[in-house]
Amino acid sequence: MCSLCDEPAVTYQRHTCRHLCGFHFIIDIEQRVADTIRTRMMIVPQDRIAVALSGGKDSTALLIILNRLFFQSDEIRFIAITIDEGITGYREETIRSADHLTKQLGIEHHCLSFYDLFGYSLDDLLNERKTQACSICGILRKKALVTGSQRAGATKIATGHNLDDEAQSVLMNAFRGDLLRLVRNSGSDSSGKFIPRVKPLSCISEKDIALYLILNNAWTPLPECPYTGYALRREVRAMLSGFEYRHPGTMLKALESKKKIEQSCAGRNLSLPLGFCKACGDPCSGDLCQVCLLLQSLKR
Ligand code: SF4
Ligand code: ZN
Repeated sequence: MCSLCDEPAVTYQRHTCRHLCGFHFIIDIEQRVADTIRTRMMIVPQDRIAVALSGGKDSTALLIILNRLFFQSDEIRFIAITIDEGITGYREETIRSADHLTKQLGIEHHCLSFYDLFGYSLDDLLNERKTQACSICGILRKKALVTGSQRAGATKIATGHNLDDEAQSVLMNAFRGDLLRLVRNSGSDSSGKFIPRVKPLSCISEKDIALYLILNNAWTPLPECPYTGYALRREVRAMLSGFEYRHPGTMLKALESKKKIEQSCAGRNLSLPLGFCKACGDPCSGDLCQVCLLLQSLKR
């Protein structure tokens, strides 16, 4: 039975020791996202937010929640941006799903492809480099998303990264010996040269996002990217899920570690000195930006 009413419970919330029915679970999730947005000032009046909408479960939940939280607001606008990397047998379905959702919610939707922006699809680029799929994809997707957001006149980019993603990033950066990168990438850029990125779902677990979508009749089973198997993240994810199962709260603790690192670095300038890419003019810390370096190396 729900701890807040007489309806049957659909979940047990370990961190509050409460059973929740569907109605109270949905309210709880939306409230936690609203709190995260408010305490970290992620969205403020006059913002035009570009929501990175892959059509997968996290970004779908993000757009639904943001639309509900700010439905009444005339001062905040959302635009959904979908990036088509060009992954055969995978992206087509998620793009259809993104298109359907934006039409349903009445949200402006822009779609950009790697092919149009860089002249190649991800499939074309990878060939013998499938083990590097996610790093290549990540660099190009980031650029594509920024380009789409600039074209749409966005003031911020919101992504669907959830608690699991954030905890995985803490471990992955620790394993790479680069925990400071977490802080550098935390959206705290003050140079004014980048569009700030916000992650309103960073306190919600992947499991809760799935349940939220099911309860809202918005769950669509979608295929998995064929390159996921090459990702280091997949191994870290499996390991962390095991830890979370045996030691509940592990992921929240990982996030706390990140916050403590952020606090201890507050006020220190950790950004690398910024200049402009000699090839494309984008802000970067070396002679060439990551995208131009990557495209040059792939053409060799
Ligand atoms: Fe790109 Fe890797 Fe995600 Fe596939 S799994 S969409 S290659 S980042
Ligand atoms: Zn460049």
